[in-house]
Amino acid sequence: MRGRFAPSPSGEMHLGNAWTALLAWLQVRRAGGTMALRMEDLDPERSKPEYAEALMEDLAWLGLDWDEGPDSGGPYSPYRQDDRRSLYAQAVKRLEQMGLLYPCYCTRAEIRSASLAPNGPEEGSAYPGACRSLSVEERRQNESQGRRPALRVYVPDTEVNFVDLIQGEVRENLSQVGDFVIQRSDGVHAYQLAVVVDDGLMGITHVLRGDDLLSSTARQIWLYQVLDLPVPEFAHVPLLYGPDGRRLSKRHGDLSIAALRRRGVKAERIIGFLAGLAGYLPRGEEIKAPDLIDFFTLEKLPRIPLIITDYTDLLGSASNKK
Ligand code: GLU
Repeated sequence: MRGRFAPSPSGEMHLGNAWTALLAWLQVRRAGGTMALRMEDLDPERSKPEYAEALMEDLAWLGLDWDEGPDSGGPYSPYRQDDRRSLYAQAVKRLEQMGLLYPCYCTRAEIRSASLAPNGPEEGSAYPGACRSLSVEERRQNESQGRRPALRVYVPDTEVNFVDLIQGEVRENLSQVGDFVIQRSDGVHAYQLAVVVDDGLMGITHVLRGDDLLSSTARQIWLYQVLDLPVPEFAHVPLLYGPDGRRLSKRHGDLSIAALRRRGVKAERIIGFLAGLAGYLPRGEEIKAPDLIDFFTLEKLPRIPLIITDYTDLLGSASNKK
């Protein structure tokens, strides 16, 4: 088994990131497999090297180690997306040669207003297709106005089926997803492309990640197939939500791993807290990550969003602020 951590260094690691990282790590360690760490720092505006450093420090402090990564290298180097752009460019070229890409000159605002048109698809759903069949002349006009295109992929009207190790059987018709962006107009490759190229070329056999990415999986599987890359097994775990009903994120600043550590919360307590949420241990226990390996199973994991209403087990009763 080959698994991976694929964090985006766009902020401090928080309890929600630690949750998925712990489960991915347990899955690999339980199977005696290999763990790769890949920094998903594609977006230059959001990624910062200091966050990447801090993420590695936090993972290591939690006891979640990796066998290959940006620091230690490995057979699938490089392990930073920023250093892998030539691989994405090659994939774009292949898709272009297959006639699967077209330039899209739509701005976000145009896509939004088309989506909101009466009887049109709702906002956030499939691309309405304005640039799908532009004539050569129309493309030239856009270019002459100085518009730089994004590259979109023609998505076929096919159904993709897969069995998620947690969510069970998933079926999705790609026409519902619509033509998606492979390369932004500023030349930055899209996550959807990069993640497929990376997991495919790095020989990743098991992808365990948050279920917010479940809806991306069908199109990713289709891309694996088109690019002739091996499709991994997927396990989409339920995400953690705070008492405010919102997904744990950077907003919950005092639940960053660094903040918890500064506050004197031990790694064993954090791992124990997460193990309690997973149903592996009674609530309130402390445990080191390696001692949890034998408790790992996907079957026990809850299938519904996990709302944390009480942080007493993590922070102690005097400081249950959140
Ligand atoms: N980099 C993504 C994130 O931090 C994870 C992508 C993935 O696991 O496929 O949310």
